[in-house]
Amino acid sequence: MKILHIEDNKTDAMLVQSLLKHANVDFEYFLADTEVVFTDILKRHPIDLILSDYHLPGFSGSEALHITRNLYPEIPFVFVSGTMGEDAAIESLLEGATDYVLKNKLERLVPAVYRAYREAQQQIARGRAESELLKLSQAVNQSTGSVVITDTDGKMMYVNPKTVQLSGYRQDELIGQSPDLFIAAGTGNFTFSSLWPQVLSGKEWKGEVLSKKKNGELYWESATISAIHNEQGKVTNYLMTMEDVSERKRLTDELIKAKEKAEESDRLKTAFLHNISHEIRTPINAIVGFAEFLNEPEFSPEKRRHFAEVIIRNSNQLLGIINDLVSIATIESGQEKVLEHPLSLNVVMQFIYHQFQLKAQEKQLQLNIVTPDTPGSDSIVSDEIKLRQILSNLVSNAFKFTQKGQIDFGYHIDHNVVEFFVKDTGIGIPAEFQEEIFKRFRQVETNATRLYGGSGLGLSISKAYVELLGGKMWLTSSLGEGSTFYFNVPLKTAGAKTVPNTEMNTTQINIINGHKTVLIAEDEDANFMLLTILLKSLKLKFIRANNGFEAVDAIRSQQIDMVLMDIKMPGMDGYEATRQIRVLKPFLPIIAQTAYTTDADKAKAMSSGCNDFISKPFKQSMILSVVNKHLYPS
Ligand code: ADP
Repeated sequence: MKILHIEDNKTDAMLVQSLLKHANVDFEYFLADTEVVFTDILKRHPIDLILSDYHLPGFSGSEALHITRNLYPEIPFVFVSGTMGEDAAIESLLEGATDYVLKNKLERLVPAVYRAYREAQQQIARGRAESELLKLSQAVNQSTGSVVITDTDGKMMYVNPKTVQLSGYRQDELIGQSPDLFIAAGTGNFTFSSLWPQVLSGKEWKGEVLSKKKNGELYWESATISAIHNEQGKVTNYLMTMEDVSERKRLTDELIKAKEKAEESDRLKTAFLHNISHEIRTPINAIVGFAEFLNEPEFSPEKRRHFAEVIIRNSNQLLGIINDLVSIATIESGQEKVLEHPLSLNVVMQFIYHQFQLKAQEKQLQLNIVTPDTPGSDSIVSDEIKLRQILSNLVSNAFKFTQKGQIDFGYHIDHNVVEFFVKDTGIGIPAEFQEEIFKRFRQVETNATRLYGGSGLGLSISKAYVELLGGKMWLTSSLGEGSTFYFNVPLKTAGAKTVPNTEMNTTQINIINGHKTVLIAEDEDANFMLLTILLKSLKLKFIRANNGFEAVDAIRSQQIDMVLMDIKMPGMDGYEATRQIRVLKPFLPIIAQTAYTTDADKAKAMSSGCNDFISKPFKQSMILSVVNKHLYPS
């Protein structure tokens, strides 16, 4: 105990020290006889107790008390004086002194010192506890989580502001209630009250609870419940802390869904690869097998014609699959473009009809076009190629899954949309698959799908196209009776523009035979040969370049009337060769002929300087038409 003694009388100072020593008080002693010394010691040492004479020359005990109370109100201050009367002593107590000992009763000194010191220590401890409590209560009040304290009956005694804010109840509506008030109906038999026994046995409970606000809104809380014990170990209260985890739970749920979707998509892609490899191998097997037989002399010309038909059929099937794959890739990469122009709906219907007429005869199914009864313009603005592809996919499916009856397709115009439909009397689609089949690589597991194969891509491509055109696709179907697929596109009219008859372009070709020279830039022997055979009727002279360099050289050294330019060639590709030839011959017709078939590929070829574009595999009618058009422009 550091004791500061204010005393001018040396004898009295020694007396006090010896009394304390005799009583075995463990102390360090500081003596001050003037105000200057007193305040200096007070400021420099952590004094535990002050003993003070009442009257000093030039300085008084009252002044010392005053200074002390101002600077360090917690230090106990005990007067030890011979001259102090009882009245002054009482007065000093009122001014803040802790005690007084009159010099004629010095036997009271040690007990007074001990008591003053003990009380001061207790006061300090109390102060600390109070400030701790204040901090705690501020923390709980400002906590971002709910804090609820209940009595041992589980009735709420304290709720922090966050609980009030989150639950939407007023504080007075909560106090005295059970926290079960928060539990949302539909959380099963769960109640907080059922947890008290478990918590009582010393276990903490943690869990997630679906809670309900006063306004009925639901939210997820992560709750912890524990018991509060007193010093004797008896449970006095329950403490519940809760945190709103709705957002976290939503994010977690989203992540789980995304993960499941990724896994599902991974699984589907693997299944797709197996499927597609089978789909590709099957026609290739037929193509390779029958192509070998074509060379066998023992087969009659008729048999060989039949083999050639098989090869063509299988090649077309293969091409269909490859086209589907390219479409999916283009759609997925967001590169699929809509090319809108005026078109005639009836021409589109006719096109589809002709495409499937033979099939209908083969399968002995009726095929009908259904168009609006009321006559009106059938001219709209849309992407004709895509419309044809969608209808063709739907009608092809209708044939695939219908064994008897009829297939009707057509459209009607309703306010501002054109609604198309394809209706069959086939096997139908179970309700649970009616959404699934629009997803990529999805098929209904039926004998028909197994029998006819298919990649499971047609509908997802069609749906994506419809959406690109600004419409929707849906279906109605009943098992065993048939299905109707619908889709619509916005009705945009062409105004006064005329609708080109696109069918004419490819079917009616006016071939003029001449003696022009065509440079074929092509690195594959087979493709070069095929082109010369396909164009035989035009009686052209052909020069071959095996790559871009040779093509540019040929243009420099020879008289050439047209170039058929392959794009992918070793050394210099077709794009670069075209660019260089364009510098030499600005008006020479250059036609890209390539197995790159997307709109982006076409655009790239055109921007390199090509005049036109034909995609592999070639259709003879198409290639004749394009070559003729550019060699003999009308
Ligand atoms: P694919 O026909 O190549 O398998 P699609 O995406 O065109 O792929 O069709 C997916 C699946 O939807 C088909 O495999 C089939 O199970 C079902 N489906 C489509 N159209 C019909 C239809 N008209 N009748 C019955 N089932 C159909």
